[in-house]
Amino acid sequence: MEFSLDLSTTKNIFGVSDFRGKQETIIKHIISGENALVLMPTGMGKSLCYQIPAIHLPGICIVISPLIALMKDQVTALQKKGVSADFINSSLGKSERIQRYAKLKSGEYKIVYVSPERFQKKEFLDALSYQTVSLLAIDEAHCISQWGHDFRPDYTKIKLFRELLKFPTTIALTATASHRVREDIVSQLGIEKDQIQIFDDGLFRPNLRLSVVDSFDTESKYNSILEDLGNTKGATIIYFSLINELEKFSHWLDTKKKRHLVYHGKLSPDQRNKIQSVFLKSEEGILLATNAFGMGIDKPNIRNIYHAQIPGSIESYYQEIGRAGRDGNPSDCKLYYCQDDLAVQMEFIEWQNPDRTYLKKLFGILSQKQNELSGLDYGTLQSFMTYKNKGDHRIQTALNLLANKGLISGELERGTLQIESEWEDSMFSESELLDKKKENQKQLYQTLMYTKTLDCRRKFIHEYFDSDFNGCGNCDLC
Ligand code: ADP
Repeated sequence: MEFSLDLSTTKNIFGVSDFRGKQETIIKHIISGENALVLMPTGMGKSLCYQIPAIHLPGICIVISPLIALMKDQVTALQKKGVSADFINSSLGKSERIQRYAKLKSGEYKIVYVSPERFQKKEFLDALSYQTVSLLAIDEAHCISQWGHDFRPDYTKIKLFRELLKFPTTIALTATASHRVREDIVSQLGIEKDQIQIFDDGLFRPNLRLSVVDSFDTESKYNSILEDLGNTKGATIIYFSLINELEKFSHWLDTKKKRHLVYHGKLSPDQRNKIQSVFLKSEEGILLATNAFGMGIDKPNIRNIYHAQIPGSIESYYQEIGRAGRDGNPSDCKLYYCQDDLAVQMEFIEWQNPDRTYLKKLFGILSQKQNELSGLDYGTLQSFMTYKNKGDHRIQTALNLLANKGLISGELERGTLQIESEWEDSMFSESELLDKKKENQKQLYQTLMYTKTLDCRRKFIHEYFDSDFNGCGNCDLC
């Protein structure tokens, strides 16, 4: 519904001169009390679609997000703009949490970010019962759907949360949702189809140029990257799947006197923070990174995202290139394909999918060593498992799977690992484990197909996500 509404003050608060895509229509739609499902590319500005209405509406806005790690940054950014926002999640200590409940109860907040589990806490619901919730925003809404790529069981209770909040205006937001996922989101929200409007701003910001460079071997790949670095300006991230490969390339760049930064999981948190803040401030920096880098990064002027090794899925590729060009200026997303790198991903799939025999064996060893678990480390545990491949990282995945079934608790690194119950073969279905592995293989195959397509790259990704395709003109094949 279009109506006259002056958004200039709130635009000023957020430092926005013009709205992007369908932002303005969505904002007005929400303020007029209508529900929406918003599909908007990563980095385009989904948050404004609920933050601006939150300020205009009389009550408070609850934002449900699965990404605990990002809430603090989002809230700090809002607080800096003078918006009374906060988050309540499991990362808070008890006294902090109680304080925030008290503030929530007394109406000090306009926007509160929570993770879905919060709705299981009586104290939270109590505090909230003193307030009128004018708006419920559901970020990463694809997590509601088991057909999405990141299904979160807690999200399926959102229909109940809406009921608890007395059916507030609701906005669900995501970057990627196939038609099947869209339908599922709407039905899981418990909203009739004619009571919610879908706003589709496409999958990609048009400023991202997509291309693939096919390389015969690693050496020619290195040379292509170096040549491209020489011909481009602006901040660049080069993603690697393996730390070893990243380090090898880093040494090679040193011999070419090309300055760069590196970021990966082997560095200490302190080193990583320093490197991140140098890169975030830089106009021209080159950063070699594993996928450990990027979550929640909102640097507007990243000009190039190169993938030096093929990623494991279109989902992760799409998410990583979404960090380029958030300022709307032309940006390059290049994938350097070399057949050898495929083997790396195939090995990852093995590591991520231990079979039942492996899980049983690992649990057997842990049970045998029950009294020595606090002194156990990865290397030793690995040597007990006697598998050919020394670089085998299956143990971490296997420990997670055992913990999910309640067989063990605690953490190996902290010396707190404990046996909790007894093994039963029925806990792990062979066919389910195999299905998951096949799914991972399919995802990798699709990524390979992306590099091989002779049609348009954007079209390929749109078809993959089952999203409406409105033309490209900005890829190496168009
Ligand atoms: P998303 O959730 O879609 O990935 P965000 O909401 O985090 O994206 O927004 C990404 C960046 O774009 C933020 O820095 C935000 O301030 C900025 N932004 C959003 N809308 C606009 C706009 N209309 N004009 C300028 N910057 C905007």
